[in-house]
Amino acid sequence: MNPDPSDVLALDTLLTPGEQEIQQKVRDFTAQRIRPNIARWYDDAVFPLELAPELGELGVLGMHLEGYGCPGRTAVEYGLAAMELEAGDSGIRTFVSVQGSLAMTAIHKWGSEDQKQEWLPRMAAGEVIGCFALTEPSAGSDPSSMATLARRDGAGDNAGWVLNGAKRWIGLASVAGVMVVWAMTDDGVHGFLVPAGTPGVAAVPITQKLSMRASIQCDVVFDDVRLGPEALLPAARGLRGPFTCLNEARYGIAWGAMGAARDSYQSALAYSQERLQFGKPLAAYQLTQEKLVNMLVEIQKGTLLALHLGRLKDAGVLRPEQISLGKLNNVREALTVAREARSILGGNGITLDYSPLRHAANLESVRTYEGTDEVHTLVLGQHITGINAFR
Ligand SMILES: Cc1cc2nc3c(=O)[nH]c(=O)nc-3n(C[C@H](O)[C@H](O)[C@H](O)COP(=O)(O)OP(=O)(O)OC[C@H]3O[C@@H](n4cnc5c(N)ncnc54)[C@H](O)[C@@H]3O)c2cc1C
Repeated sequence: MNPDPSDVLALDTLLTPGEQEIQQKVRDFTAQRIRPNIARWYDDAVFPLELAPELGELGVLGMHLEGYGCPGRTAVEYGLAAMELEAGDSGIRTFVSVQGSLAMTAIHKWGSEDQKQEWLPRMAAGEVIGCFALTEPSAGSDPSSMATLARRDGAGDNAGWVLNGAKRWIGLASVAGVMVVWAMTDDGVHGFLVPAGTPGVAAVPITQKLSMRASIQCDVVFDDVRLGPEALLPAARGLRGPFTCLNEARYGIAWGAMGAARDSYQSALAYSQERLQFGKPLAAYQLTQEKLVNMLVEIQKGTLLALHLGRLKDAGVLRPEQISLGKLNNVREALTVAREARSILGGNGITLDYSPLRHAANLESVRTYEGTDEVHTLVLGQHITGINAFR
């Protein structure tokens, strides 16, 4: 018998006992550490730095990576964790994505042995925070137009680099112990590791945000930043370097968005069963039931889609256009669900006492980063027509 009437498709039965156990562990963490505090963090626009080592202890930082102190979990397990964390708040899941899917994946995939040994164990433990600096004030959807330059400093094997430029929207940059910075060189795009405290680097948090308030994004300036030869990520060549990491994060987002949607739905469902108007609970009206059912249908479909992507990823056959389809659909539908859930809450729904409008505001960021809706539409358009319509 299925204990949760909202899991109409019995999706739980598609998970192994081990997967269910991890999901429950992260769900409990969200219930204990995120849910009771998130309204205050969001209102105060605070990212709770103390969560970093706790998330390391939970085993969700660099969750899908092997070795170097990383948990070495499957793609499905990582996805389930992303979903449960984002049911708490997208800002917390964003931290986990930036740390694990972006910064740690860049070092794990493209770094030297020394770089991996130096950074990954402490990043997996949440002792060192990483960031991933790709976007620039004038280069968002089109990173190939980046203006940040790294030029050779000296000659021969000992030649270092001088970094100049500006990045924007860089998650966690002001608290990062290490920055992964993508810059143009005379040999195309390369990645560099810039440790905290390197002279010439300034990271300033962006304020007055209406979305992702329990999370930090920064403007970063590099002014004649001198780096040694060991700063270069040796294996990354061209935009494939950052794009590989972005695909990891986009995969997690396809799951995470369903967490925000599910939490919004559950909030509206509970409210509709208690709130009486015209002598009956809101849930007793056909118009309300239609809203709830429409939400649930999209949540069940989107979760099934995320699980399908996860199984493909674990089998090593997941393709970029499949990730685009998942990210585009699940974030778009999650946003619709969160807004519809807010409508059931009436006036109370515009306060931080309830989650849906906070989720909806966050999801506006989620639909923008890691490839906007339009970018993923163009990826899929190119895939099915064979015609590149990006320019
Ligand atoms: C909360 C948050 C966190 C972020 N974290 C990071 C981070 O950690 N690291 C990082 O490097 N970046 C980060 N970003 C940046 C994010 O990746 C960019 O915002 C995103 O790539 C879009 O770039 P843009 O904002 O410059 O918008 P633009 O690229 O200027 O796009 C504006 C609009 O035009 C549309 N558009 C663009 N090109 C086309 C086209 N060819 N056809 C049709 N429409 C088009 C877009 O879809 C969008 O709707 C973050 C952003 C946010 C909001």
